[in-house]
Amino acid sequence: MVAQQFPAGLPQKKLSPSGGSELHAVSEREGDQFPAGPPQGKLAPLGGRELHAVSERGGHIRQAVIAGGGIGGLAAALAVSRAGWKVRLFERAAAISEVGAGIQLGPNIVKVLRGWGLAAELDAVAAFPERLQVRSAASGQLLAELPLGSAMVQRYGAPYVTVHRADLQGLLLQAVQQHTDAKLQLERPLRSFRQNAQAVMVQADGGPEVECDVLIGADGLWSSVRQQLLGDGLPQRTGHVAFRAMALQAMLPELLRSQQITVWLGPRMHVVQYPVRAGEWLNVVAIVEGEAIGEEDPWNHGVSASDLDELAGVLVGGCTELRDLLHALGGWQRWALHDRRPMQGMHQQAVGRVALLGDAAHPMLPYLAQGAGMAIEDAAELGQSLTQTLEPALDVPLLLQRYALNRWQRNAKVQARAARNGQIFHANGLLRWGRDASLRLLGEKLLDLPWLYGGAPAAS
Ligand SMILES: Cc1cc2nc3c(=O)[nH]c(=O)nc-3n(C[C@H](O)[C@H](O)[C@H](O)COP(=O)(O)OP(=O)(O)OC[C@H]3O[C@@H](n4cnc5c(N)ncnc54)[C@H](O)[C@@H]3O)c2cc1C
Repeated sequence: MVAQQFPAGLPQKKLSPSGGSELHAVSEREGDQFPAGPPQGKLAPLGGRELHAVSERGGHIRQAVIAGGGIGGLAAALAVSRAGWKVRLFERAAAISEVGAGIQLGPNIVKVLRGWGLAAELDAVAAFPERLQVRSAASGQLLAELPLGSAMVQRYGAPYVTVHRADLQGLLLQAVQQHTDAKLQLERPLRSFRQNAQAVMVQADGGPEVECDVLIGADGLWSSVRQQLLGDGLPQRTGHVAFRAMALQAMLPELLRSQQITVWLGPRMHVVQYPVRAGEWLNVVAIVEGEAIGEEDPWNHGVSASDLDELAGVLVGGCTELRDLLHALGGWQRWALHDRRPMQGMHQQAVGRVALLGDAAHPMLPYLAQGAGMAIEDAAELGQSLTQTLEPALDVPLLLQRYALNRWQRNAKVQARAARNGQIFHANGLLRWGRDASLRLLGEKLLDLPWLYGGAPAAS
């Protein structure tokens, strides 16, 4: 039986560019960018309202331009606005929207979101899995287990949650719109920038050049800000392909419904399943090693019959429960996974007045489930660093150096560990035997990651 699929478009929070007031759509004339009226809502009050206005303390109110309205760009818009900056965000697409897929958020990220006052919004859409189980894809046997739920709260002060990507993006978007005066502008792909000691000049399609104090490149894997800033080539193909699907749990046979995270490990493949949307939906991602021919952009490719054969071929050796699960789902999408080598130094996170954030700075394989998490941590650190502008002696490039210094090593470590997990997850032969033995013996110790889950910077 094929379960009812996530209806295309329905779960995605989309805002059309014509939705002027909702999006704070702005006139293209320079100097006409900021609406009057105080920001609404319960978050801390923000800075002044005019471009290059003078603050109550007599200082200059700084302006940041953000390229990209994904999870990282929206988190940055929130954090930098909260730091008292004027924010203008240029998004290439015609709508702020996300794909129909899930995302795991460790306690390190939940703490940041809660610090921004988003606890109730997150709790309303998240699922709270009680445990993470690792099982053999071939036999179905349990290899290891990590208690989540209250154990994570006790250890790290916040739960481990799983959410729908559109729900996470939606709550960040809502916070930006309701609690800041940041301007979001759609269909404005950033084309180029130039910087000098005093400012950055940004050119986006559909308007004149914009002058600002800081440019934040949150424009994802294929970042054009990164291309211009570092010129270090394109991300590499990894030869790993992700197949994703979701189903309403109520439409699945009872045996296949689940409220926990399960990771199935097999040779050259693994499958991860977890609940989203307050547990009503089940999200499944199967990652296999194989060439994704002719694909540059990793997002949103419908799965053809031959793709499904490829997936089914990998699963021939899988246990019945896993095969039943994958056959119960339809509407698969596939992504060719790309990454970059782990960051080599702080110059890859910021240069002068331009900072990189999220996948633009440190794309990674999803085997630690922390790519979006690191984008959110970047945003929190950026907010903290830029708060220091109230101190006139500190100039903007220096503040970005602090941001880069505080972020790059953690990001590099997460990138490296994610890649290493790929080798461990997909192991075969003797390595696989050793992995399974270690998991049986040391399970919880290997799965718990205090350096990661306990290590978020405090939200500003
Ligand atoms: C299979 C899979 C599973 C994953 N699971 C997890 C998980 O469980 N937990 C987790 O934390 N992470 C996970 N990730 C990683 C996570 O999805 C990414 O790290 C995260 O979405 C990156 O966010 P971002 O905002 O940096 O980039 P993006 O989401 O790519 O956003 C970039 C935005 O910039 C816009 N843009 C691009 N170019 C321009 C331009 N020139 N001008 C203006 N706008 C532009 C784009 O339209 C887009 O809106 C997973 C990834 C994959 C592939």
